[in-house]
Amino acid sequence: MSEVLSASALSAREALDADVVVVGSGAGGAVVAAELAEAGQRVIVVEEGAHVAPERYAHMRPSENMRHMWRDAGLTFALGLGDTPMINVMMGQCVGGSSVLTGGVCFRIPGSVMREWSTQHGLQGLREEAMTPYFEEVERAIHVEEVPAEMRSRGSALFVAGAQKLGYPVHPVRRNTRGCNGCGRCNFGCPHGAKLSVDVTYLPRALAAGARVFSDLRVDRVLRKGDRVAGVSGRALTGSARTPGSRLTIRARRVVVAAGAFASPLLLMRNGIGVRSGQVGRNLTVHPGFRVMARFDEPVRGWQGALQSVYLDAFEAERITMVGLFVPPGVLAATMPGIGRAHVARARTIPNLAIFGGMIHDDGGGRIIDLFGRPLMTYRMSPRDRAAVPVLMRRMAEIYFAAGAREVFLPVLGLGGIDADDLARIDLTRIKGRDLECGSQHPLGTCRMGVNAANSVVDPWGQAWDLRDLYVADGSILPSSLGVNPQQSIMSMALRIAWHLREQPLPG
Ligand SMILES: Cc1cc2nc3c(=O)[nH]c(=O)nc-3n(C[C@H](O)[C@H](O)[C@H](O)COP(=O)(O)OP(=O)(O)OC[C@H]3O[C@@H](n4cnc5c(N)ncnc54)[C@H](O)[C@@H]3O)c2cc1C
Ligand code: SF4
Repeated sequence: MSEVLSASALSAREALDADVVVVGSGAGGAVVAAELAEAGQRVIVVEEGAHVAPERYAHMRPSENMRHMWRDAGLTFALGLGDTPMINVMMGQCVGGSSVLTGGVCFRIPGSVMREWSTQHGLQGLREEAMTPYFEEVERAIHVEEVPAEMRSRGSALFVAGAQKLGYPVHPVRRNTRGCNGCGRCNFGCPHGAKLSVDVTYLPRALAAGARVFSDLRVDRVLRKGDRVAGVSGRALTGSARTPGSRLTIRARRVVVAAGAFASPLLLMRNGIGVRSGQVGRNLTVHPGFRVMARFDEPVRGWQGALQSVYLDAFEAERITMVGLFVPPGVLAATMPGIGRAHVARARTIPNLAIFGGMIHDDGGGRIIDLFGRPLMTYRMSPRDRAAVPVLMRRMAEIYFAAGAREVFLPVLGLGGIDADDLARIDLTRIKGRDLECGSQHPLGTCRMGVNAANSVVDPWGQAWDLRDLYVADGSILPSSLGVNPQQSIMSMALRIAWHLREQPLPG
């Protein structure tokens, strides 16, 4: 089996030639690469990020991990327009992409979302019965299993107790793990090989079937021959500063773009693909996420136990989903206000803090544009999404108080801990967007799939409407947001495209 190679070691004269080149090695790209390589096609995967082997990320501190494996070291932001907060949109940039950084949570595409795609978007192939084989195959390949109740962190158990007291049902999540010991480090790459991210599942399968995987290569050009795609080219990134070096060209009969919902539209628009539709880079959804913390008298030690073990969908009518999470103490301390002794005093409360996340099943008010060669991401919350934010905060605080929390910390800048009386007094609808702390790990939708070239970027099989044999197979093709964590949905959509491509003769 070949190894992942750094493109920085290749010479510009190297002739690279493949049946299929896959741009991006994350959740979508890895699935396509493995499936097509196993079908006997000559596959090359190119990845902008570095290759950090599991043995290495197992020993990295969170800050080191973010520097080497996250896009912009985790500091990519969407500029909030109108009464919308700035949103910290987190993404992986490494071999395995964001898949390496997930909490492992896996959901199928919700039935209501598939109905919307088939009825409102005309995508009949995305009906539940048609998608089920893809869901099942991905679940098998990455071993999706239910998190047992005994793996719950104390923080999640308290949230469950509060929710149940108020009559809200809570469900166990399913994760792509085998042999998880609940060490809670999932977001920095599993140090125990228990989380079955694509760098330890699909990519080794692709390599074993003869695919070549090159890291440190940022693709910026799509090559054409007539009305067909002919390959890609990009610059190898060298040294610790990752300076663009030699230009490498890969000739291929098919190109599958899987650079994620942030980078795929930039690559397409910079190469004039899909621009006539006016949809490239538009329709960005992010599942705006809000983290609510609560301090309990008892030690919670939220870092012990599976990061994400339960979810609550009781507020789906209000387009809110709540999913457990925990932030490592070092990262949490760095985000706490105060300096010197005041900061130390706050940081000392971390063992008693529980954290849970709430996200909004959003409408898609975001956009990615190329501003004189630099990407700019903007996001404007729709009125109904914006109205859901105070509801989300109030409900989560109520759940924590029902569980016995002493004080609750809402994601509002400058607002310290509040008690139940404060919650009754504060009008959360008056809090300005700019004062909200908002994060996202789920950018989607910027090259959306559709049945009509006038209002979508790719056709129902992921092929660009205006460039034959160029496919997109990542989170950017989702026609709308999901309301649940997306990795399994993206992988299932990518698998559907891969199985379709297996059956299509390669162009001459
Ligand atoms: C911290 C974190 C936690 C998450 N937790 C969960 C979870 O628990 N459950 C869940 O369902 N989802 C989770 N997600 C989301 C999930 O990981 C993503 O939705 C999914 O991986 C996206 O798949 P993708 O193929 O679209 O993109 P990615 O997996 O991000 O892969 C895209 C790859 O393309 C590469 N690339 C970009 N531009 C170029 C270029 N020009 N040339 C070459 N390569 C390029 C990138 O470096 C990246 O490696 C999480 C995400 C993060 C960041
Ligand atoms: S909790 Fe620990 S062992 Fe389990 S998947 Fe996450 S990082 Fe791996």
